[in-house]
Amino acid sequence: MSKLEEHLAEKGILLADGATGTTLFDMGLQSGDAPELWNVDEPDKIRAMHKGFLDAGADIILTNTFGGNKHRLKLSNDAHRVRELNAAGVDRAREAAAETGREVLIGGSVGPTGELFQPLGALTYEEAVEAFSEQMEALVEAGVDVLWVETMSAAEEMKAASEAAKDKGVPLILTASFDTAGRTMMGLPPKGLNDLRAEFSCTPVAIGSNCGVGASDLLAAILEITEADPEAIVVAKGNCGIPQISGKDLIYSGTPDLMADYARLAVDAGARIIGGCCGTSASHLAAMRGALDSHEKTDRPSVEDVIERIGPLVSPPNKAAESGESPRRNRRRG
Ligand SMILES: [Zn+2]
Repeated sequence: MSKLEEHLAEKGILLADGATGTTLFDMGLQSGDAPELWNVDEPDKIRAMHKGFLDAGADIILTNTFGGNKHRLKLSNDAHRVRELNAAGVDRAREAAAETGREVLIGGSVGPTGELFQPLGALTYEEAVEAFSEQMEALVEAGVDVLWVETMSAAEEMKAASEAAKDKGVPLILTASFDTAGRTMMGLPPKGLNDLRAEFSCTPVAIGSNCGVGASDLLAAILEITEADPEAIVVAKGNCGIPQISGKDLIYSGTPDLMADYARLAVDAGARIIGGCCGTSASHLAAMRGALDSHEKTDRPSVEDVIERIGPLVSPPNKAAESGESPRRNRRRG
C-alpha cells in the first residue's frame, strides 16, 4: 500500500490544500512570471504559502510546480531548469511539512504542457511523454508521495501524462477541468474520464476534477464521475465560489462558510480527497477542515441541491454539447 492509500484507509477522507496561483499573486507574484522561479528566488514565501495550508489542517499539499515542464518554462527561458525548479519546489513543501510535526503527504503538481497536440498544434505525443517524464522524474527523486496531474483538458495529453508516470514508483492522481458547458475545453465529459482510465498506461489511484469555473460546476462534475463509478477514489478541488471580473482580475466570491458547505457536499457526492482551487485561501481551508471533521456523510445531493446551496452553474451543459457538436472554447488560466 502506498502512503496515500494508508492515509486514506486511516482517515477516510483527506483534505488537500487551497490555491497556489491566486495565493502567490496575493503575495506579489506578477501575472506572466513563472511561479516556479519562486521555489528558488522567494523560498520564504513558498514555505509560508504551504505553512498557511498546513496550519489550516491540510493532509496533502501540492508543490509549486504546476508549470514546471520544459514547454511552459521555455516562456521565461528556463526550459533547462526543469530538474532544479521541481526539486526546489519539493524541498520547500518538505521544509514546511517538517515544521508541522505531523505526517503530511506531498503531491507533485504537474499541469498541462500548454501546447496543443498535432494536428491542432505542434506537439507530438512522444514529446509530451518526454516532457512529463522529465518533470516527474525530478519530483519523484526529490521525494514526492504522489504525482498529481491536474487541470487537464485533452484526452491525448492525459494519456501522455499517465504513460510518463508509469514505473516512477509513486501513485498517480489525475484531475481534469470541466469548464466548458460541463465538459473540458477539449470536449471530454466527466464520465469520459472514468472511461479513459482503461486506456491509461498507469492507472491513477484517484481521478477527479479541479479548477474550471465555479464550485457548483465542479460538484456537478464530481456527481457524474461518482455516478459512473461509485468505487473510484475521487478528488474534488473546486474554485472558491464563482469567478467574477473585477477590473483586470478574476476574483472569487466564496466565503469560508460557503467553502465549508462545498466540502460537505463533496463528501456527500462521494469525493474522498477534497481541497480548493483558485481563490481558496488558508482561512477558507480552515473552514473546510472544520466541516470535514464534523460532517457525517449523508444523502447524495442532486445538481439542484448543489445550485441551491452553492450558487448557479457558471457554464451549464447545453443541448449543442449534448448532441456532440463541439463546445465553445473559453479562455481560462491554469
Ligand atoms: Zn484553479
